[in-house]
Amino acid sequence: MERTIPESFAAKSYIYERGEFREGYVMVEGGAIVEEGEGRCPARPDLQVAVFPGVVNAHTHCADYGLRAPPGMSLEELVAPPDGLKHRYLRETPPDVLSGSMRRFGEASSRYGSAAFVDFRENGAEGCRLLREACPDAVVLGRPESPEFDPEEMERIMRHADGIGVSSVSDLPSRYVEEIADFVRDRGAILAIHVSERVREDIDLVLSLDPAFVVHMCEAEDSDILKCAEAEVPIAVCPGSNAFFGKVPPVARMADLGADIALGTDNGMIREPDMAAEASLLVSIAESQGADPSSVLGSLFSLGGKILNRNIRLGRTMRGRCMAVPFEGDPLPENIFRPGSSGASLTKTIGSE
Ligand SMILES: [Zn+2]
Repeated sequence: MERTIPESFAAKSYIYERGEFREGYVMVEGGAIVEEGEGRCPARPDLQVAVFPGVVNAHTHCADYGLRAPPGMSLEELVAPPDGLKHRYLRETPPDVLSGSMRRFGEASSRYGSAAFVDFRENGAEGCRLLREACPDAVVLGRPESPEFDPEEMERIMRHADGIGVSSVSDLPSRYVEEIADFVRDRGAILAIHVSERVREDIDLVLSLDPAFVVHMCEAEDSDILKCAEAEVPIAVCPGSNAFFGKVPPVARMADLGADIALGTDNGMIREPDMAAEASLLVSIAESQGADPSSVLGSLFSLGGKILNRNIRLGRTMRGRCMAVPFEGDPLPENIFRPGSSGASLTKTIGSE
């Protein structure tokens, strides 16, 4: 978790804005961009960096950051509610320990250069309250715990949350999920759902709930992806977490079919919240599936503008936090996000942002 670049440096820079790289230079002091411009760097550059403002980690579970996932466990054994290892851990671990894990996760996420992370928070209203306290800037999507729809529980969750993250439509009676979706819609809040991670699920049911975005879609067929594209519902993919379970998201098909792809690091017990490392995997998967790696670069930001700025408090954190990735060669996705890439945080208080 070391910073991969120094606190202060001069660099040849490629700043990614509106879908393209703008070439120039940056001067950085104490982790902040204090000067930037076009043309040659006025000082001898120490390195070359790509700079991505406003990166959003679209899908996390931060509370299990203190747990290390034992290799070889199946998806069900590890994360299926209610008795997967993760859920037993979350039930049995004291709140102050979970809260400490969340705080460390939030600090790591910032240090790697993400401007925001969107967390599926377990443990009902109390879980949401813990995260809101530990990481005030997190986007919190809570999860009801009662066996039937309970408007009072939903009220308690929404006191601390920005919306609801449903574990999957297969885990709950569909009437229950519909009541949750109606509640969230009335509030103008965010609904997100894990979909087709382990087995294919009914995308028509999912889209009828009007989610702001869906997560995973490893087992989705083309028609499912196409329906998401047509409904303009972004798909958050988590290739590192999927790889742990031997799964691969069909990102080339998503790109070809016009779906908006977002990127998330998923469970803290499996992956560091390092979006550059996650993007490296995404780029290599896109290449191996025959897609242009440039087609997935937008995944670093897609939830930021489209979903989150619309309803919630992201403005404060989004402005001015950039992910810097040192690299060599031309500014191509496969050079910037190669195996071993890691991001570092730069703040930016000058310029157009
Ligand atoms: Zn998840």
